[in-house]
Amino acid sequence: MDKKKIIIIASVLLLIILIWIIFGGAIRNKLFTNKLETLGYSGKEIKLIEEKVFSDDYDLVTTSKNDEVIDVISAKGYRGENLKKYLDYYSKYKNCDMEDIITIVNSGYDLSKYEPTSTLADLVTEKYYIYDNTSKYLKYYSNNENISLDKVVGLVNSKADNKFYTNTKNADLNKGNLILVNKYYYLKDNYIPDDLVTLTNKYNGGTNNMMRKDAANAFMEMVDAALLDNIILKNMSAYRSYNYQVNLYDKYVQKDGKEAADIYSARPGYSEHQTGLCTDINDISSSFEGTDASNWLVDNAYKYGFILRFPKGKEDITGYTYEPWHYRYVGKNAAKIIHDNDLTLEEYYAYYLDK
Ligand SMILES: [Zn+2]
Repeated sequence: MDKKKIIIIASVLLLIILIWIIFGGAIRNKLFTNKLETLGYSGKEIKLIEEKVFSDDYDLVTTSKNDEVIDVISAKGYRGENLKKYLDYYSKYKNCDMEDIITIVNSGYDLSKYEPTSTLADLVTEKYYIYDNTSKYLKYYSNNENISLDKVVGLVNSKADNKFYTNTKNADLNKGNLILVNKYYYLKDNYIPDDLVTLTNKYNGGTNNMMRKDAANAFMEMVDAALLDNIILKNMSAYRSYNYQVNLYDKYVQKDGKEAADIYSARPGYSEHQTGLCTDINDISSSFEGTDASNWLVDNAYKYGFILRFPKGKEDITGYTYEPWHYRYVGKNAAKIIHDNDLTLEEYYAYYLDK
């Protein structure tokens, strides 16, 4: 072959490549448009498809049913990158609501084994939804439909879909000041915090006057701050040993029976007082509610790292009746989140620490 021929062939090849680069997209689009026309899509529908579908998904469109494609791409919340997933759901669950399907797919979780119901769609948009708990939420909700979904999420996250004192576990000491001790997480009988300090009379009015160091320092800071607002706060009961709780609980059981005692008192090992991180303040009775001291604590305790541990309306999560006097040290960051979002330590722990 002579040089001239090689140059001509090479030039022609180059030209073809150039034409493809410049006009290839347009040619592919034209072919796609023709195909859509043959499949019976209207001009308006074709325009919609070209506007909403990524070119990578052209084959997907031409192999799917027309009405399904149009329903999906005109739905509210549609995102081009999820087209295949929407279509998979839609062809499988024809009777389900398209917006629910869109919400479920857009959540990014793999929920393909669940029917895309409106309950599931509402669930995945719950603020404290935890993917691993999905089947538990659905089960709990189907048995208790009078309970709101956000409550179901809170309950299941807190393991309170189990009966109290069942499925119990060792409390995780590695969580430090955020340790969770409740009717599912217990401390061993030999656990004694190693940094207990004694509160002086200025801060204490009871016999159980020891707290862990961080908690004690924060408590003193809080008491001093309250005093500037003419509020007097005193600890009445802070750290209590395992054996102390044995005696206390036994006394209550003898007085009121086990069932009643379980509602207001903790079984040994399950009392938060053994952590050395909580304090009963001023008046261990329901009459503490509404006092100036109680109101001050509700508004300000979180600024010093304390939370109202057993709030009203959360009894089925915490396992305890409302205790306006019982405050728990968790540190300032956690206390602020818990306070601002109206959470319990159980809910915080599940979502932020244990997920
Ligand atoms: Zn208490």
